[in-house]
Amino acid sequence: MTQEEITTLRAKNTDKFLELRTHVQWAAFAFQDSCFGRGFYFRVSEAYRTQERQNILYAQGRWMPGKKVTWTLTSNHTARFAIDVYPLNCKHNQIAPIAALFGITHPLKDDPPHYEFTDVGEMPVQVAPLHVQLSQKIRALKRSKGLRLKSLTRAIDRLKKMLGMI
Ligand SMILES: [Zn+2]
Repeated sequence: MTQEEITTLRAKNTDKFLELRTHVQWAAFAFQDSCFGRGFYFRVSEAYRTQERQNILYAQGRWMPGKKVTWTLTSNHTARFAIDVYPLNCKHNQIAPIAALFGITHPLKDDPPHYEFTDVGEMPVQVAPLHVQLSQKIRALKRSKGLRLKSLTRAIDRLKKMLGMI
């Protein structure tokens, strides 16, 4: 894939990731970065699905023509907790273990593109961006009654100002 194709792919996948619940989006981005960094590329076809669309998909292969594409009326897509992933140059068994690192599950044998975020927690410290790590550390420091806490807090405030955080 060319750099341009990868940039376009990232942008399209990003649009889908932003449809997920806010607190699990970090995992989708971390999953993509880890896979793309290893040269495993994938396309995300769908994230959020309205209940109306889920109802139409459910009808397909039952009382409407076509092949069955879903087994349920209550999908984690409607809850903004699922994406459908299509590997472009790799296989699910290569990317699913990477997804698992961030709490994303690959639960359905008969629906390989389907990945779920119901077990994903808040962003852990080790993958949080610098400003999140910093505020988590400050909170921890404030809880511990260290010496010279005031001057330390002042130094951190200066650092935050430098980083444009306050
Ligand atoms: Zn799905």
